[in-house]
Amino acid sequence: MEKDEIYLGSHVSMNAPEFYLGSVKEALSYGSNTFMFYTGAPQNSIRKPLSELKIQEGRKLIKESGIEELKLIVHAPYIINAANYSKPDLYELSINTIVSELRRTYAFGAKIMVLHPGSHVGMGAENGILALAKALDTAFACDGTDVKIAIETMSGKGHEIGITFEQVKEIIDKCKYPERLGVCLDTCHINDAGYDIKNDLDGVIEKFDKVIGLDKLLVVHVNDTKNPIAAHKDRHENIGYGYLGFDVLYRVVHHPRLKGIPMILETPYINEKAPYKQEIEMLRSGKYIDNWRD
Ligand code: FE
Ligand code: FE
Ligand code: ZN
Repeated sequence: MEKDEIYLGSHVSMNAPEFYLGSVKEALSYGSNTFMFYTGAPQNSIRKPLSELKIQEGRKLIKESGIEELKLIVHAPYIINAANYSKPDLYELSINTIVSELRRTYAFGAKIMVLHPGSHVGMGAENGILALAKALDTAFACDGTDVKIAIETMSGKGHEIGITFEQVKEIIDKCKYPERLGVCLDTCHINDAGYDIKNDLDGVIEKFDKVIGLDKLLVVHVNDTKNPIAAHKDRHENIGYGYLGFDVLYRVVHHPRLKGIPMILETPYINEKAPYKQEIEMLRSGKYIDNWRD
């Protein structure tokens, strides 16, 4: 059989009693061949000790099911904001959290951690970028791992940084360890930031390549969006139900220039049920089912 070249999955949960083993089972139940997880709650940095998380059991199942560990993604918690140093305690806490999450990611056998670049909170984007680059320098100097951080492109709500490819490139350039940085491209976020992937996907990919370089693209978040282009909102929608629509997202998943890059769904649950099995099936096959959500 020919090897599947598309790496498609979703974010998955990690709950008692099976923890990481449960995460892997969840991903497999959606028909995924990659997935993204948080090493604890997304909203805080309270973390269970690694020894309780059934990591070895999870990794064994990963191996048995043919999932490539190198394509797995960890998402750092949202509370990190390393783009503002006006509150030294919070800045330091953010750096410490980055370091401990890098180490946790490494312990799971994963090599890519997605990080939101954060908010400058009134310091201005330039200072925010500097603050983040310095924080990353500190973290990379002491974490002792080879895990890469994928800076996620943001939609531009509030005081976010990392909303243009140029800003993301600047973060990478200003860091002393650029080889440990890459990018996570979120389709909802770049639409909301003003990149017209609906009408000019090839052009946007070309622009990314020119400004940052496609070799830096480590992850794609495949989400439809509730809002039109340049809305600066960041509200994810189910595949086919938003402004981008199925065809655009199908072309993202199958784009020849994005081959081999893990694609992760972060679309909303429907009546407390994960939509990912259905969405993954449609995005793989290209067969869209009208009103699949109803
Ligand atoms: Fe994210
Ligand atoms: Fe995302
Ligand atoms: Zn988002």
